[in-house]
Amino acid sequence: MASQNDNKNLVCPFCSLHCDDVSVTTDNNQYKVNESNNVCAKKIDTYNLNNKSMLLPKKGAKVVSLSSALEDIRNIIKGHNETLIINHGVDLSGVRSMLNFASQKNYIIDHINSKFLYQNIGVVQRTGYMATSLTEAKNRADVVMVFGNQIFDKSPRLLEKVLGAKNSLYMKKKKELILIGDFSENIIKEIKKKCNVTNVKLDLDLTNDFLNATSLDSSEAVKGLKKSKLSNIKNIINKSKYLVAIWLASDFIKAKNPKKIISSISKYIVDRNILSRAACMPISGSLADATSSQALTWTTGFSSRIKHSEGTFKHDRNAFDSKHLIDNNNVDVVIHISTISPDKLKLNKNVKNIVLGHPNTTFTMAPDIFIPVGIPGIDYEGIMFRTDNVVSVALKSIRGIKLPTTQNILDKLA
Ligand code: SF4
Repeated sequence: MASQNDNKNLVCPFCSLHCDDVSVTTDNNQYKVNESNNVCAKKIDTYNLNNKSMLLPKKGAKVVSLSSALEDIRNIIKGHNETLIINHGVDLSGVRSMLNFASQKNYIIDHINSKFLYQNIGVVQRTGYMATSLTEAKNRADVVMVFGNQIFDKSPRLLEKVLGAKNSLYMKKKKELILIGDFSENIIKEIKKKCNVTNVKLDLDLTNDFLNATSLDSSEAVKGLKKSKLSNIKNIINKSKYLVAIWLASDFIKAKNPKKIISSISKYIVDRNILSRAACMPISGSLADATSSQALTWTTGFSSRIKHSEGTFKHDRNAFDSKHLIDNNNVDVVIHISTISPDKLKLNKNVKNIVLGHPNTTFTMAPDIFIPVGIPGIDYEGIMFRTDNVVSVALKSIRGIKLPTTQNILDKLA
């Protein structure tokens, strides 16, 4: 059990930046987050135990023992045809066990955010692509183009740690940030404290037109963008020695053609490298998306949407899409694995729902079986991959509520 009023460093599992400098004070099994970024502090605090936290397995509304819950799961999957495992975020050991379990039973695996992963991967597969790391962006980039307005909400310390970092190694001047999209006045005000800001309130479907118009020899106009502003942006870009473009694929969810937006940015970056230096830095989702795609890729050769059959994992981007499988009644058991998601899990009444989830998990309806599991980085040590895939962080344990890990449960079921 954790000792009283113990100060510890949390390596944060709750977004793909995985900051390793969050201080917490633990008091028995509660913790207080000592982090000046309020969004992060609130986010991390959400996972503290409360009077609704579930620390024991349940069958429907009834509390059951772990051995009975495991037996019920075995009976459910034995009597059904097709089982799908949906990863809503877990550490590397959980993903490895998921693969082992699926390989022994011929199950399908998908990550809840894989549609966004495929929007980015599609560009890598079809056209040229140049990417950089958070470290390069922090130390070298002089101009950063940010596409979409949710990125600072989803990665709350991106400004403090990367774009406006005080301890940048080589950049003595403020970075120029060109924000493309409908950013709130509050966010712009915050960013202005650390960077020079130009906001282009542009329909993101016009990204290709906008990027083409920023080239020096272009005389094209862009709908909704004043000539004087465009000329100012051209000047900033023209002086840049190292331009970085960042986006969060989920920000393009309402766009008519998200793939076109991403491929336009990627092409623009590749073309800029003829005269200067430039790179893409897509930010991956907050549900250990990078950890899932890394582990699946090096183990199976595919980053998501796989099924084990005839002794090997097979991939089909459409056939093994979890939404498509559930909507079309092509699976009858769904195992949801959710150790870091703040979202209400969407369960479907047409299938048997099994949830391995953190103690504060909420659902749209009661699952058939729920087993509470530990949170990586809070309840047990583990590994997760940072958004740029160049760093795997070692998560620590800060409380001692002795819940099983996802790995423990899946290894018992395999
Ligand atoms: S920015 Fe992300 S990783 Fe860093 S403390 Fe906030 S939620 Fe955690």
